[in-house]
Amino acid sequence: MRVTRCPRCRAEDIAADAHPARVLNNGAEARLFVCRGCYRPTELEYRIGCETTGASYRPLPIREALAGLHEFYVARLAECEDPNLLVEDDERAARSAPIRAALADVDRRLAIGPVGDRDT
Ligand SMILES: [Zn+2]
Repeated sequence: MRVTRCPRCRAEDIAADAHPARVLNNGAEARLFVCRGCYRPTELEYRIGCETTGASYRPLPIREALAGLHEFYVARLAECEDPNLLVEDDERAARSAPIRAALADVDRRLAIGPVGDRDT
């Protein structure tokens, strides 16, 4: 079964527990999703990178972060439910359930409207 590895530590499967972070790529902001453990260090590195290069740092707006997560989980779910993927139905269900739950949580938070600055 396909696993979506955290691009930073390459250990955690982030398919159902991703955290939006950013990196500086040739001085430009690039978005990526990392695992829970990598979220803070990645964002801190981004912040330090901004300060080093004189770019202005701004926190990732929560709704942008949630919208990105929504797309990420929808894509993971589509991968999971791809009929060309040869897995047993129960394995498919077991794999997609946590992604579905994570997507529902993101959508619930998006639906609430403006929310405070919480970590995602
Ligand atoms: Zn990680």
